[in-house]
Amino acid sequence: MSIAENLSIVRSQIDRACINAGRDPGSVTLVAVSKTHTPSKVLEAVALGMQHFGENRVEEAQGKITAVRAQGSSSLVWHMIGHIQSRKVRDVAPLFDVVQSVDSVKLASKLAASAPKTRRLKVLVEVNVSGEESKQGFSCASWQEERAVFDEFAASIHEIAGFRAIELAGLMTMAPIVEDMEQARPVFARLRKLRDALQEKLGLPLPELSMGMTDDYPVAIEEGATIVRIGRAIFGERQVVQANNPAL
Ligand SMILES: *Cc1c(COP(=O)(O)O)cnc(C)c1O
Repeated sequence: MSIAENLSIVRSQIDRACINAGRDPGSVTLVAVSKTHTPSKVLEAVALGMQHFGENRVEEAQGKITAVRAQGSSSLVWHMIGHIQSRKVRDVAPLFDVVQSVDSVKLASKLAASAPKTRRLKVLVEVNVSGEESKQGFSCASWQEERAVFDEFAASIHEIAGFRAIELAGLMTMAPIVEDMEQARPVFARLRKLRDALQEKLGLPLPELSMGMTDDYPVAIEEGATIVRIGRAIFGERQVVQANNPAL
């Protein structure tokens, strides 16, 4: 299937999930996850109207974003969605428009210190609400049962929101891999409720919920996703196997 055919299916599924949930289809941003795919695939998606792209490795993104910009596509929005190693932090802010994978206060502080002076860097805080050990992010699976878990996370959110150079826009999560996407629904609902509880406690707007990938995005949208990150359903199976990268 071509990228054009894939995109038209994904877009109509997004519209359908929005209608099911009584939401405006314009309230969901589709991020095309282009990791392992070439700049020419990105440009193909751009020609089909795509504006938001996601990458999970700084090194790979550097070459790709530079190549795509050289083709004149400079108004795209690039999202960093993967774990950021300390030694790579300084390269992130100049390259990306949104960092979805902020998993510590220390990382937020380093990103703030390296953010361009001309614009605030938009960030989302990555949360592990499934309790799976393999997942990155703040561990918040038990926030509804354990008050201390919630309070500690709220304190971190408060601190991150305080960095001037970054704009904290919301939360991101990855659901576990499951056979039936319905099984992921409680994880998405838990992230939404956590966001609501934080907004209430801190009096802070956290409008964005980035959740939902190829295997589960319709359910994520029904549970309130404002950003979905979709790779395989748009570009097909990933091109390169990078053994050192668990996110692939
Ligand atoms: C790879 C990746 C995606 C996209 O996954 P697909 O299953 O191909 O849609 C989304 N989010 C993150 C964080 C990823 O690493």
